Amino acid sequence: MKVGDPQLRRNLRAATRGIRQKRNAVVAEVEDWEELRVAGEAIKRDAMGRLDVLLEQLEDAVTRAGGKVHWARDAVEANAVIGDLVAGHDAREVVKVKSLTTDEIELNQALERRGITAIETDLAELIVQLSDDWPSHILVPAIHRNRSEIRDVFARELGLEGLSDDPEELTDAARRHLRQAFLRARVGVSGANFGIAETGTVGVVESEGNGRMCTTLPPVLITVMGIEKVLPAWRDLEVFLQLLPRSSTGERMNPYTSLWTGVSEDDGPGEFHLVLLDNGRTRVLADEVGRDALHCIRCSACLNVCPVYERVGGHAYGSIYPGPIGAILTPQLRGIPGDADELPWASSLCGACADVCPVKIDIPRLLVHLRSRVGGSDPALRLMGWAMAGRRRFEAAQLGRVPGMRTGIGMGAWTKGRDLPPPPRETFRQWWRRTRG
Ligand code: SF4
Repeated sequence: MKVGDPQLRRNLRAATRGIRQKRNAVVAEVEDWEELRVAGEAIKRDAMGRLDVLLEQLEDAVTRAGGKVHWARDAVEANAVIGDLVAGHDAREVVKVKSLTTDEIELNQALERRGITAIETDLAELIVQLSDDWPSHILVPAIHRNRSEIRDVFARELGLEGLSDDPEELTDAARRHLRQAFLRARVGVSGANFGIAETGTVGVVESEGNGRMCTTLPPVLITVMGIEKVLPAWRDLEVFLQLLPRSSTGERMNPYTSLWTGVSEDDGPGEFHLVLLDNGRTRVLADEVGRDALHCIRCSACLNVCPVYERVGGHAYGSIYPGPIGAILTPQLRGIPGDADELPWASSLCGACADVCPVKIDIPRLLVHLRSRVGGSDPALRLMGWAMAGRRRFEAAQLGRVPGMRTGIGMGAWTKGRDLPPPPRETFRQWWRRTRG
């Protein structure tokens, strides 16, 4: 159990508290913060309402600018497209800028099966990759590691004996290791924070400059973008480039914002491919309440305020999207019923996530909605719903006369860790009538 790991809890508490404080300070500086949130929500709602049109507009604009668009229904299709592109250029390795979408489709593993090495260039992603680990936070993937653990990983995997745990020394070691990879790479792979339908521009927002290297140095650039990342117009960036950095890293403006439109002669990659990924997103869109999860801009503010996340860490969610956003997005992406059905219950419904969400996603409402959807497909909860729908049935259930409800059959994990008390001899109403006439 992660809650029993004191080191993990110390790391999480220190990191989430620090980011929270920075975020609160920079948000308080913005007088029209609430108006920005309202605008962000409105833009996202509009975009999701005409996603089909906007995506085709994006494809046209990217194609006109010299790029090529590939449509991928799922992870298998996306990985096949990317693998073929890399292999088609005789490349045996690619440099990658941190991308949750490529983690979602397990691109690194798919490339590895084809003999292609994916090198993560974000410092935290590199730490996760070198330690054969899994990201535990959207923004700070190695949040569960402290610096002496990182020093040990670098010493072991990069052969850097004698390294101290001084952050500057660790960063310098990573920089020297990565610089060589950037210079030899023939293919770069990125995710995308936004794709602008109006202009065909794609953008990545980051802090270390590794994204800029990945998207400009290699001759070929492949960008994998979830279809929900599309924004209608260039001017929409004005809103999101204020909301995102303040909500995520607690900065007024992130150090690097890279935006590119197709290809340009003698400037950046000569070949640009945009892979538009569905992988369950159209299924999410079909749920009129649940679709709000697609508004997410992956800032991670909801993780940093969540009392459940702070205690259990990201790995406990079993998904690349942890915390409150993971609890509403992952079950929908994977499909209900599915293997993430329990995630909507990983919340106390305290509402702190909704208060900080820069695009005003009402996360508790979605959690309750998804609980009812999961309940509708869970045999035990269906049985409970049937029993509670009528007085006679409810009383019979109270007395343990509904098969399954007395014995706990069908209640699965609930009764593994809890005692089911023996049913009473009479209901409350019967007791009342007997004792009060
Ligand atoms: S749900 Fe909102 S707060 Fe959470 S990561 Fe997405 S945009 Fe940020």
